[in-house]
Formats: sequence, structure tokens, C-alpha cells
Amino acid sequence: MSKQLYLVKLGEISLKGLNRSLFEKRLRNNIKDKLRPYHSSCTKRKGRLFFYIDEECPRERIIKAMSTTFGVAGFAEAIVCDKNMESCIERAKQLLSRTDLSSYSTFKIDTRREDKQFPLSSYDISCELATVVFSFKEDFKVDLKHPDFALHCEVRDQIYLYTSSLPGPGGLPTGTAGKGLLLLSGGIDSPVAGIEIAKRGCKMDCLYFHAYPYTSELALEKVKTLTSIIAPYLGGTRLFVVPFTEQQLYLRDNAYEDETTLMFRACMMQTAERLCKEKGLEAIITGEALSQVASQTLKAMSFTDSMTDYLVLRPLVGLDKEQIIRRSKEIGTYETSILPYEDCCVIFSPKHPLTSPIKEVARRHFEELKMDSLLDKAVKETEVYFFNPNGEEFFPENTPKTVSE
Ligand code: ATP
Ligand code: MG
Repeated sequence: MSKQLYLVKLGEISLKGLNRSLFEKRLRNNIKDKLRPYHSSCTKRKGRLFFYIDEECPRERIIKAMSTTFGVAGFAEAIVCDKNMESCIERAKQLLSRTDLSSYSTFKIDTRREDKQFPLSSYDISCELATVVFSFKEDFKVDLKHPDFALHCEVRDQIYLYTSSLPGPGGLPTGTAGKGLLLLSGGIDSPVAGIEIAKRGCKMDCLYFHAYPYTSELALEKVKTLTSIIAPYLGGTRLFVVPFTEQQLYLRDNAYEDETTLMFRACMMQTAERLCKEKGLEAIITGEALSQVASQTLKAMSFTDSMTDYLVLRPLVGLDKEQIIRRSKEIGTYETSILPYEDCCVIFSPKHPLTSPIKEVARRHFEELKMDSLLDKAVKETEVYFFNPNGEEFFPENTPKTVSE
């Protein structure tokens, strides 16, 4: 069966020292997982991975896989040919005949001669290939600094030819930096927060607090949709849905009104911590940004931090809403995040929330609420949904629907 060949450029992985091969192996597996059942093999050569993919695999599927896999700095469809100029020129013609050159006016040939035994110099190879390019577009101009179009030629064990390379998401392969728990609301911020941490190699599960019927089934569907959009970046994930109606009503009736949101956030941290313990997760990730809302002041965040021993990561803490929105549009969550179903925080929010709590006082008030058994109950009734690396929900056999079964 004939194959499509894709070249993957490694970004930060190339800077890794002794454990570089572990990062490369993880990246290779993360891509393979997305291309199943079409992927067939992968070879590695000097800072690049070459993927051989079955001919039937749709191009869109490959592009989606590469552009959502952290560790990929860039990628391009490549053509491989025998190590002589006749075959190189023949294959360059083939590649160019599949390329629409009409919108470009300048080009360059970029030759890398890794095999120093090859009889022609890089310059000679470039000249021969430039002649081929001119035969496709006579009025093309050469621009070595800022060309609109480039034809790359790499002379290695064989000759590899490729044209424009598409950008990958950069970062490090997920699964190389432990596993965390993302507090995923239906809002704009938290999906972005998850992606930023995943970009540094962290795998993660997601947790959503659902206060049905105060938050509707549609709100849950929205969070499931968001999970399916971010799942490819996370290399697949689980969504834990914690039923939180009873707990929210208890807080509404028993907490000091201006502290309700703070107490709710304390509950979130302690529930997340319980799940982290049970599932072997190492950190809690949230979409908080300094001063965005009442519960995101330094004093309020310092209180929430103190409610768990786990590391709390807030990758958006110094970003403006505009920056977060831009990022959410890039990753494709924005349109879903702005759907109008309210999340539970909004519904139970006090009119005048306390923004400058005294940590010790708030901690004492939280202890007085005696939430432990209610939080244990919430964890016990938590439901699990599974998403594969392509973002599709799946139903593993013999897996209980709730966390405690
Ligand atoms: P977002 O846009 O992510 O909803 P936000 O600006 O609305 O954030 P808050 O509602 O105060 O801010 O929530 C802060 C963070 O707490 C969220 O980014 C998310 O990590 C977490 N969070 C809030 N509500 C929920 C929920 N219902 N389930 C899970 N996590 C939540
Ligand atoms: Mg929110």
C-alpha cells in the first residue's frame, strides 16, 4: 500500500539533553494515537520525525492531528526520492504540480545537505531546483530573505522534498510533565487555562461542578462540548461531573452571605483535592486571572490556595480578558464558551461578595460549616465521561459510570 509522508519539526524538544528520546517517543505515540488506524511507521532523523501514513487517511485528519499535538513545531507533506538529481528533479516536478503557485510572487530554494558525500553542493542543488520552479512559473522572483514560497530539499539517507510547512502548536508533548486536574466551567477562561498547562507537557482530567436544575442539562452539554474540543490538545481526557446542588443550597442557607462565593471556592478546592488523591493527580488547574472577579483578588486567591495542600496552577493570572479571548478563538472554544447557559457560581453569587477576606477568619468560618460529609458525598456521586485523543466521547467496557462504583 502506498504511503503519505509527513515531516514533523521538533521545537523545544530539540533543546532537551539526555532524556530527549523520551520526549520524542511520547510525541510519536501521541501522534500515532490520533492517526489510528491509518498510521504505519515513523522514523527519526536529526531533529525531525517522518511519519508514513496510509494513503486512505484524509488530509484534514492528518492536519488536525499535527496541529493539536504539543511538541510539533511545524509539519509538512513531504516526498522522498532516490539520492540522485534525476530522481530529485522528477519528484520536485510532481510536488510542484500539486501546488497552487498562483498567489506567490517570490520564492527561494532551501537546501540542507546533511550527507556531505553527496556529489553536488547545496548551491548546485538549489540552482537545479530553481530551474524546475521557473518552469512552473516564469515570472517568479527569487527572494532569499522573505520569500512567499519555499521549496525545501534535504539530502539525508534519501532526498526529502517539501514545500511550505504549516505551524504546529509548539510546546512539549503531553504526558511528559505529570497529570493534573482542570477545573472546567462553561466559561471562556478555564479551557484556555487547561491548554496552556497541557502545552508544557501536562496531561489532565477535567472536573465540572453541576448544580442541576439550577444549571441546566444544556450547561452540562456545553461543558462536554468544550471537553471534546480541548481533548485533542490533552491527548484524550476524562470529564468528572460532580453533582453540587445540595452543597450549594447548604452554603446559601448557612454561610455568611458575602462569603458564599469564597466558601464555594473552598469547597471546590477540597473536592478537587479529594479527586486528585483518588485518581493520583498532582495539581489543580484553574482559569482565574487577577482581579477579574471578586473571588480573584490576591486575598481571595490566597484564601482558596490555603484550602488545599495541592499545587494550584493559574496560568492566566496575569492575562487581560482580551488576550484570553484571542487564545480561546485560536483553540476553537470561544463560540461554545459564549453560549448563554449560566454556570452555578453566577446563580448563587451574593450581591456584594467579600473581596478582601482575612484568611484566618474565612478559614474558621469554613470549618464551622462542617462540609466534609457533603463533599465526600459529592465525590461519591461523581459521574465520568471519557474522550479519546480525537475528541470523541467513548464508552469503555466494564467501566463504572460513577467514581465510587
Ligand atoms: P471561567 O471563564 O473559566 O468560567 P470565570 O472568569 O467565570 O472563569 P469564576 O466563575 O470565578 O471565573 O471561576 C474561576 C475558575 O474556577 C474557573 O476558571 C474554573 O477553573 C473554576 N470554576 C468555576 N466554576 C466552575 C464549575 N462550575 N466547575 C468547575 N470549575 C469551575
Ligand atoms: Mg465562570
